[in-house]
Amino acid sequence: MPGVETQLVIVGSMGLDTIHTVSATRERQLGGSVSYAAPAASYYTSTGMVGVVGNDFPKAFMDLFTGMGIDRRGVQVADGKTFFWEGRYHENMDHRDTLATELNVFASFEPSLPEDYARAPLVLLGNISPSLQLHVLDQVRQPRFVLADTMNLWIETTRADLLRVLKRVDMLTLNESEARMLTGRHSLPDAADAIRALGPPAVLIKKGEHGCMLFTPDRTCLLPAYPVRQVVDPTGAGDSFAGGFMGRLAETQRLDHDAFADALVHGTVVASFNVGGFSLEGFRGVDRDAIHARVAQYRAMLPGFL
Ligand code: AMP
Repeated sequence: MPGVETQLVIVGSMGLDTIHTVSATRERQLGGSVSYAAPAASYYTSTGMVGVVGNDFPKAFMDLFTGMGIDRRGVQVADGKTFFWEGRYHENMDHRDTLATELNVFASFEPSLPEDYARAPLVLLGNISPSLQLHVLDQVRQPRFVLADTMNLWIETTRADLLRVLKRVDMLTLNESEARMLTGRHSLPDAADAIRALGPPAVLIKKGEHGCMLFTPDRTCLLPAYPVRQVVDPTGAGDSFAGGFMGRLAETQRLDHDAFADALVHGTVVASFNVGGFSLEGFRGVDRDAIHARVAQYRAMLPGFL
C-alpha cells in the first residue's frame, strides 16, 4: 500500500491460465507466479508486486489484488496480449504437461521498480525468465535476503542467464526434477551441494505432495506437505509456498535457521489453502486467523521439533 514501507518485492509472471484437471477445465483464469506469490505474502507483510499485463487483462483480476491490500505500483499495463499458459494435470497432480506458453507482453518487458521498492529488505524473484530476474536485481539496493525461483524451461533454454542469477541470490527454490535437471545428479542432497557450488548458500527443493527439503550450509530441514483432503488445482502451489515463506520471513525479520523452519511451516500452510480451489479461489475467506489455526494444527502433526 502506498504510504507503507514495502518490506517484500516480488517479480514474476502475471497471466491468464487455461487449466485442465481430470475433472474440470477452467479457461483464462487469473494465474502467473507473482499472482499467486503476492497474495500469499500479503497475509504477512507489505508486498509490492512487479510484472506486466496486456490491455486485455480483466479489471476484476486487478481488483482482486487491490482487495488483498497488495501494492501493485510495480505492475505495468502494456499494449498487447497478456502472458498465457495452458497446462494439463494427470491423476497424480504432481505431474502436469505444459500445453502452451505464450510470453506475449513479457517478451519486451523491462521492469522498472518504484523508488521505494528498491529499498525493500526482501526480494522474491518469482518464476520468470532469468534475464528479467537480473533486471530486478540490478535495481534493488543491497536487500538482506533474495530468494529466486526457476523452472525447467529456463534451465533448458536460458541456462547462462540462470547461472548469473545464481551468483547473486541467497537461496534458490525449484522442484526435485528441476534440481536433477540443473545438476545432472539424482540424489537430492548431492544436487543441493552442486547448486550451492554455483552460488546460492541455500537451496529449497520442493517435492509436491511430499513436502520440501531445505539445505543451508550447516543444516538440513525436511517438512511434509499439509495433508489436503481434496486438491482442486495445484497451479501456483510452489509460488504461494515461496510467497508465504518470504512473507513470514519479512514479518519475523529473522534469517536464522529456526526462522527458516518457521517460515517453511507458514509457506506449507498457505500453499495448502491455495490448492483447495482454482486460481486464487482457495484463498477466499482465508484470513490470518485461519492461517494461524491451520499452522497450529499442522505443528501438532509434526513429531517433536517445531
Ligand atoms: P506453479 O504451479 O507454482 O509452478 O506455478 C504455475 C504458474 O506459473 C501458472 O499460473 C503459470 O501462469 C505460471 N507459469 C507457467 N509457465 C511459466 C513460465 N514459463 N514463466 C512464468 N510463469 C509461468
